[in-house]
Amino acid sequence: MLEIKQMTSGYGPMQVLWDLDLKVNPNEVQVVLGANGAGKSTLLKVIIGLLPLWSGMLKMEGDDIAHMSVTARVKRGVGYMSEKGIFPELTVEENLRLGGLSKKRGETQEQIDSVYQRFPELKERRGYVAGGLSGGQRKLVGVGRSLISQPKILLMDEPSSGLSPRYVSEVIERLAELRGQMTLVIAEQNISFLKIADTVSVIEGGRTRFEGSVADFTNDDNLKTAFFGIE
Ligand code: ATP
Repeated sequence: MLEIKQMTSGYGPMQVLWDLDLKVNPNEVQVVLGANGAGKSTLLKVIIGLLPLWSGMLKMEGDDIAHMSVTARVKRGVGYMSEKGIFPELTVEENLRLGGLSKKRGETQEQIDSVYQRFPELKERRGYVAGGLSGGQRKLVGVGRSLISQPKILLMDEPSSGLSPRYVSEVIERLAELRGQMTLVIAEQNISFLKIADTVSVIEGGRTRFEGSVADFTNDDNLKTAFFGIE
């Protein structure tokens, strides 16, 4: 679904990603683990096209997408949920509508209805200001908005960010419901997300330090201790 080889990128003169490799198979859930500043957000921004690829390869389903606009990538099936995820001052429905900017009006409404079917609690709160919802529900608005474009692959930047542990578990449960329906790439520092993952990659200093199955990661005591202080 997604193939990245020797990716370099950064901000202005500052290089953040150094020959990063990543491979994600169709319909799998991959968690990209890394500490603060490891380069996870930067990686997702290069994939969706918010930051330029400096060098290396970025392919989706075998096609080079590196030089496509963000809109073209969204149409091609790349979805993106930023760390903030929502516009807090807009209503739930207005947030969802923004997810349909690359779609025709009628199609957007169809997709909003399908998000409401999936997440009935959002339908009940469609007229509420998103910033006034609980932490878990706010994240659901972000997930819902990124589903409107009907992504084949959904990139999520730290869905746990700003959430108490209770809401983190709630978000993980809801994301589990998307399993098998699309490919998910979840950038996180919270290892609880491994519960719903098929594969893991670990990023350190803008480089891929590990890529493999959750079982391989879990059995690698050195890696776990080095990165997450867990024995
Ligand atoms: P976090 O969990 O803190 O978001 P991350 O793994 O997502 O961590 P990035 O946000 O990708 O890390 O940041 C990687 C590096 O790029 C850091 O050194 C950060 O300071 C730097 N950086 C991030 N955004 C910018 C920016 N807009 N301009 C300049 N440098 C940036």
